[in-house]
Amino acid sequence: MKGAHLAIEKVSHTYRRGRQQALADIELEVKPGEALALVGRSGCGKSTLLHIMSGLIAPTAGKVWIDGMKVEEPSPSWVVMFQQPSLYPWMTVAQNVALGLRFTGRSGEIATRVPEMLKLVELTDYADRNVQDLSGGQQQRVALARSLAPSPEILFLDEPFSALDAFTRGSLQRDVRRIAKDLGITLILVTHDLAEAVTMAERAVVLSANPGRIREIVPIDLESRDDLRTPEYAKARGRLAAAYENAAGRGLAAVSEPPSGAGEGHGIQPRGSALPAAQ
Ligand code: ADP
Ligand code: MG
Repeated sequence: MKGAHLAIEKVSHTYRRGRQQALADIELEVKPGEALALVGRSGCGKSTLLHIMSGLIAPTAGKVWIDGMKVEEPSPSWVVMFQQPSLYPWMTVAQNVALGLRFTGRSGEIATRVPEMLKLVELTDYADRNVQDLSGGQQQRVALARSLAPSPEILFLDEPFSALDAFTRGSLQRDVRRIAKDLGITLILVTHDLAEAVTMAERAVVLSANPGRIREIVPIDLESRDDLRTPEYAKARGRLAAAYENAAGRGLAAVSEPPSGAGEGHGIQPRGSALPAAQ
């Protein structure tokens, strides 16, 4: 398994029913195996960008390339996880984990792959349990195992842990990062939780709203992500908070406000090209 390279070329998007452009002039490159966070206030276009990257919606302008192939529709080479794990309640844990393989015509691999994936997410003992008997965090682990079973090259996450309690959220954040690193998968995470971005990603792309534009790309260089109380972690978080606040235009208080209209006319211009130097 190897992570894919992703490139976004001049992507803009306007929803047919949208009053305003949702995304403007997005240019971004993601390295194979990198963990990248997309952050910004509610309504700035994070989910729209994730949906465009994963082929769920076509942008009104621009292109997305994954390993040099133009993205035109979803593919089994990449998977998207949402806040709701969307499991089948009448199936066991193992049956749910097998679904990704079944849908991609790889049923022959179920017998070996499913136990491997259950081990990876530490749910081996739950294989034959009904998913309804599991906690929210365990259900997200089942969804993760199902996503990983077909060996995707990119894992897209759209605020997948926001419904979980802080303790469960923290352990899933660390586990998903560790698993993605171990398997070499490219990880692209949408979140409005800055601590989550710092815990999981090596870079955070900060978006401003109306229309969604890249305002800043903040590197998150941490030697270890196991201890969240280090001065290094606080510093990284502080830098990201400053960039976020700057992009939100009116400070962190704007996070809880409805997206419509906010951020308009603050006159802040995006900084030059957001495309990082190729390495
Ligand atoms: P985020 O994920 O950052 O909260 P979204 O990508 O969901 O933001 O939304 C970006 C903007 O596009 C918002 O103004 C939102 O209202 C609008 N929008 C999102 N989905 C649709 C849709 N299906 N039709 C019309 N407008 C939409
Ligand atoms: Mg969203």
